[in-house]
Amino acid sequence: MAKRDYYDVLGVDRSASEAEIKSAFRKKAKEYHPDLNKAPDAAEKFKEVQEAYDVLSNESKRKTYDQFGHAAFDQQTGSGFGGNYQGGFNSSSFGFDDIDLGDIFSNMFGQGFGFGGRKSNKPSKGKDILYRTTIDLEDVIFGGEQDIRIEMYDICDECKGKGGDKPKTCPECGGSGRVTKVQNTMFGAIQTTVTCDECSGTGKTFEHKCTSCKGTGSVWTKKTISVNIPKGVDTGSRVRIKGKGEPGKNGGENGDIYVEFVVREHDIYKRDGNDLYMEVPITIADAALGSDIDVEIPGSVISLTIPEGTQNGDKLRVKGKGVPYISSSKVGDLYIIVNVVVPTKLNRKQKELFKELSNTELDNDGIIKKFLKMFK
Ligand SMILES: [Zn+2]
Ligand SMILES: [Zn+2]
Repeated sequence: MAKRDYYDVLGVDRSASEAEIKSAFRKKAKEYHPDLNKAPDAAEKFKEVQEAYDVLSNESKRKTYDQFGHAAFDQQTGSGFGGNYQGGFNSSSFGFDDIDLGDIFSNMFGQGFGFGGRKSNKPSKGKDILYRTTIDLEDVIFGGEQDIRIEMYDICDECKGKGGDKPKTCPECGGSGRVTKVQNTMFGAIQTTVTCDECSGTGKTFEHKCTSCKGTGSVWTKKTISVNIPKGVDTGSRVRIKGKGEPGKNGGENGDIYVEFVVREHDIYKRDGNDLYMEVPITIADAALGSDIDVEIPGSVISLTIPEGTQNGDKLRVKGKGVPYISSSKVGDLYIIVNVVVPTKLNRKQKELFKELSNTELDNDGIIKKFLKMFK
């Protein structure tokens, strides 16, 4: 069955605020809680509501969901950006009537409760990793490479991911992968079924358990990965590095690494889509008489022709010197905004010329040219 949209599950708008999501969750959770609702599908619905809330109440998970939908939190394979459901949930018997559901649930989340039942022994894909990195505008224009340092679970070198020698049934949970615990809380005793620590929910352990990964087959590692920065990326663009995420379980494929770029603001060039804008100061004389000036643009210096009579704020287009389009040979344009600088310090001669100019009709060409040459 296709998974329902999380927003639909909670009955909220895609633009719903944090408070609206929380209040919708409380209402739905009360409606479907298996202790209060005896309908056969109540538990399933309750689980659905809890899962939707888990994602939508977390800013970064919500963003990921908005962008990728359910694919980002694929429960069946156990992958997803941190959407990790382990262990079982079994709230046996206490009344919810006068208790603040939201607080109880946040407590439970905090303690790692959740749905999902025992871990299966079926092959499952390893978790995907999302890594954000800041790059410069030059990297976007010319493409580039960056080394990123990622911390994640990787295959244990010691046992090559096997977890140990001579597999046996876990004595702690009898092979079920789950153990039941009773906790005394201010609401009374809560019985919960959680993942077995001994076998991490697999139901199996080893005669000789690997000491470096404690039988899990994976260890927390830091590694450096070289990332290609494709030309034209923008803040929020992602590249996928296939198979470099966390190792798969039971022979499943590895997860992927997603690298998301954040493009640093540039001091000189402002980006608008694939076009760039920059301001260039010129003298009054260059503006009035026209001139060729050298302008430093990304990666080179060009000679820019300032036409005669250029006004302050005029926009001059340099074709094809903007930002490349992703996977295309097309390139945006560079716009140079002219900033005509009025001199603030004048010598005696220049002052005289300004006075002379102010007594002259502005179309008196000869005088103006003579005047402007002073400011070249
Ligand atoms: Zn066990
Ligand atoms: Zn190991």
